[in-house]
Amino acid sequence: MCGIVGYVGPGSSLEVLVGGLRRQEYRGYDSAGVAVLDDGGTLAIRKKAGKLAVLVDELAASPIADGHTGIGHTRWATHGGPVDENAHPHLGDDGRLALIHNGIIENFAELREELAAAGETFTSETDTEAAALLVGRAYRETGDLTEAMRRVVGRLEGAFTLLAVHADTPGVVVGARRNSPLVIGLGEGENFLGSDVAAFVEHTRRAMEIGQDQVVTIRPNEVSVTAFDGSPVPAREFEIAWDASAAEKGGWSSFMKKEISEEPEAVANTLRGRVQDGRVRIPELEPLADALADVDRIVVIACGTAAYAGMLGKYALEAWAHVPVDVELSHEFRYRDPVLTPRTLVVSVSQSGETMDTLMAVKYAREHGARTLSICNAQGATIPRESDAVVYTHAGPEVAVASTKAFVAQVAALYLLALQLAESRGTLTHAEIARAVEQLQALPEGLATVIAESSERIAELAHWMGDTESVLYLGRHVGYPVALEGALKLKELAYIHAEGFAAGELKHGPIALIEPGQVVFVIVPSPRHADSLHRKVVSNIQEIRARGARVIAIAELGDVGVVPYADEVIRIPLADRLFEPILAVAPLHVFGMELAAAKGLDVDQPRNLAKSVTVE
Ligand code: GLU
Repeated sequence: MCGIVGYVGPGSSLEVLVGGLRRQEYRGYDSAGVAVLDDGGTLAIRKKAGKLAVLVDELAASPIADGHTGIGHTRWATHGGPVDENAHPHLGDDGRLALIHNGIIENFAELREELAAAGETFTSETDTEAAALLVGRAYRETGDLTEAMRRVVGRLEGAFTLLAVHADTPGVVVGARRNSPLVIGLGEGENFLGSDVAAFVEHTRRAMEIGQDQVVTIRPNEVSVTAFDGSPVPAREFEIAWDASAAEKGGWSSFMKKEISEEPEAVANTLRGRVQDGRVRIPELEPLADALADVDRIVVIACGTAAYAGMLGKYALEAWAHVPVDVELSHEFRYRDPVLTPRTLVVSVSQSGETMDTLMAVKYAREHGARTLSICNAQGATIPRESDAVVYTHAGPEVAVASTKAFVAQVAALYLLALQLAESRGTLTHAEIARAVEQLQALPEGLATVIAESSERIAELAHWMGDTESVLYLGRHVGYPVALEGALKLKELAYIHAEGFAAGELKHGPIALIEPGQVVFVIVPSPRHADSLHRKVVSNIQEIRARGARVIAIAELGDVGVVPYADEVIRIPLADRLFEPILAVAPLHVFGMELAAAKGLDVDQPRNLAKSVTVE
């Protein structure tokens, strides 16, 4: 979990490390620490439970000599509580080696026993310390930090990114990864390592991927990557598509506010280069061309908000491409003998591309013969590497822990996939595809309008509702995933009990929850369609109003039918049915954020949550 940064070069290690950790704060963490090695081989460490600011204060109160080699870590505790002793770095080789770790070493208990029997003592409760001591011992035997790391990683089970420095070798940082993120930043006379490119993007935009089960050694003028067994492996260099300022707040009061305002751009960028003259072309699907030609079933796997994007994808894929689609939570998927064949396409959706539950589900799918496609926002991430193909959502870095702009971008990417499949399968006419493309292209403007026109009113409503204890969300058809997403955002951000229901389900149970004053958001389908959805949802509103609910309707412009029954109507621009949810979700994102703000909560880093959930 969380953030790692490593540096070798002529600059100030402390500056690079603290800056790198700051830019990765969004990953969520509970402790932070650094190890700095000066050119004379003095290794100094500071580590503290709490926010990065606590570590920075500690560095001011108890300064260490700066150096040109260093590693920095933010921890999200898995083994041992978030206290100073458990914060990383951990030490090996009698304090001459410092090591940091993100992830979980599953066989740590055995390793600890073995080390204790060999006379080593432990100063923390972490799984990590076993790795630090093992690498320290291996170093004593080999005198080579890279070789020591290679010897140890083969013995570790679980998920890990490890970085180590040794007092004997200033100017060298060694890293390793398995099922946990690590990327290299390539500078001029300096090199970097990070959990993601945000760690070093202010210093360089040249980066290099590291594959699974690989070891990397960086020196100021050299980077070498090998497999765990030492054999050389090809490494792919890439240019980071955004600059450091994109990961900054840029004058907004919170990342969340900034990111909601970027929802239009996130959709536009995801469409960019993939739609032209009324047609969809996703070049990244090329490696899957044969599979797409005869796919007979799609399984979307994802967690949290991404799973709701997947549910919307299902409506589009089934309606347009006529492929049966199941949407599954990644962590449930692989534990229940799912039926997979070579004609099954498993589409994973993960903003970070590191979600461990989803990564494991993707691996399972591949091992069981399915073809895999990743929809991902973070370049150089693990899930795309483990998949047959990747369609990146170009939403830009999403820093706030709760996902907003990545969600709308994921839906746009799934819709593009549905349209490309519809064309190749001949299930939509060219005119129908052109109409859908036009609707997709209108979304950025529509989103900008909704956000601009509804935010002030939503903020007022949220401020009146500061002491609300429960909010319900109702939607039907594509409004249903929107209801789920609205409720999740409120739980995550405002810590308020919230539930999303399919409106038709109301009478089967949830209506018992309605009592006078209960706030209910209702996503109202457009009345312009021949089906009876609008009428049915308006009836649902009447049913709950009759029992005292306060209804806030999200309805399209010009829908007068809903007005007499709603306490409040938030308007969205006109769009075809499958496109309504992308517009309807934005006010709910704003509401979650505003209610959290009204309660004085940190909207960017809600309690107990991490941005990138890299443990199962
Ligand atoms: N398992 C390690 C610990 O609890 C690392 C956790 C992390 O990824 O930050 O210290």
